[in-house]
Amino acid sequence: GRRAVDRATLAGLTEALAGPKSPVIANYETLDAYREGGGYAMLARVLSGEITVDGAIATLSDAKLRGLGGAGFPAGRKWGVVRSYPGPRLMTVNGDEGEPGTFKDRYWLERRPHLMLEGALIAARVVEAERIYLYMRDEYPGVLEILRREIAALDRAGLTAHAPIELRRGAGAYICGEESAMIESIEGKRGLPRHRPPYIAEVGLFGRPTLNHNIETLLWIPAILAEGAEAFASKGWSGDHAGLRSYSVSGRVKEPGVKLAPAGIPVIRLVEDYCGGMADGHTFKAFLPGGASGGVLPASMADLPLDFGTFEKHGGFIGSHAVMVLSDRDSVGDVALNLMRFFRDESCGQCTPCRSGTDKMVRMLEAGGLDRELAQELMLVMRDSSICGLGQAASNSVAHLIKHFPEDVP
Ligand code: SF4
Repeated sequence: GRRAVDRATLAGLTEALAGPKSPVIANYETLDAYREGGGYAMLARVLSGEITVDGAIATLSDAKLRGLGGAGFPAGRKWGVVRSYPGPRLMTVNGDEGEPGTFKDRYWLERRPHLMLEGALIAARVVEAERIYLYMRDEYPGVLEILRREIAALDRAGLTAHAPIELRRGAGAYICGEESAMIESIEGKRGLPRHRPPYIAEVGLFGRPTLNHNIETLLWIPAILAEGAEAFASKGWSGDHAGLRSYSVSGRVKEPGVKLAPAGIPVIRLVEDYCGGMADGHTFKAFLPGGASGGVLPASMADLPLDFGTFEKHGGFIGSHAVMVLSDRDSVGDVALNLMRFFRDESCGQCTPCRSGTDKMVRMLEAGGLDRELAQELMLVMRDSSICGLGQAASNSVAHLIKHFPEDVP
């Protein structure tokens, strides 16, 4: 009697403290449903050798699939590079999705998690990675629960025998989306970006050659192998741009959200044709092509194609395709200060130009009466001598503020 009461009381308490037993999970495609629709057929063909390693790499290269986590490195070439280093090899999947304005990976994982999982298992087979470490953002509890369930289902179905999948949770650090910091984090260390070379393709997780992909890069792989390179590549906006992409669009548009659109689509078309135009009462003033780091460009550049390489000559980049739209009611000065505070807070602090530079820049913007010459000098130091992309790109929005929006400079 007494023990039963204690147990009941403790169980009641634990339940009350823990809140709902599991996070809210939307309807998503389970393993059974995915297989009924033909899912895992491509993995079977790769495992059986019907699709050869060279064939898979060639198809991916011909499809011109690029890394959609931000860097845009050609995926097929990456597979070839990792394979060129002697095994044993490992694979990591970057699901940290910490770039402000980016929510496409979550969108897909909450709906069709097996697209990515099949892509990952195919990639692991091609580069002969012995294990897959899936690094997932902890702020997505629903996604984590879906992945736990579905990886267990894959294990039961015997589909992970060649490359078991380990799910690892991030802990909210933006810098752990940088691939070498993510690897440090998976190894159980503080997430500090590594010096390169060596690149992780050669010396990565636990010192082994490592293939790392973003969630979205992987989820295109089964369809590309099934339908052929040309079917994917031809979906681009024009001959210079290949394939479809998921754009996370937010800000002053009528219908923000994840938009599946051609690579290279001009910003203005994305806003007008996919987002229902600008929100009522707002006039298109500026846009951030690539989250927090990709800079802030004026609406006069909205006819430029959204693709890798487009914005580099303007001092910005598209990164993970997070497009934030600003209107005449927004001050680019406020945006630049907000972003700089973000980078100051998220800097890992390992190198001085970034740690001190972001802090100094925040204080200069906060003080007003910005000394442009001093700001340019500081930006140059940060760009040229920071260890990783965070410090190198942190001041892009300030550079654009000065160049394109002089009326908004504080
Ligand atoms: Fe860390 Fe910033 Fe240096 Fe990157 S640039 S290693 S985030 S201090």
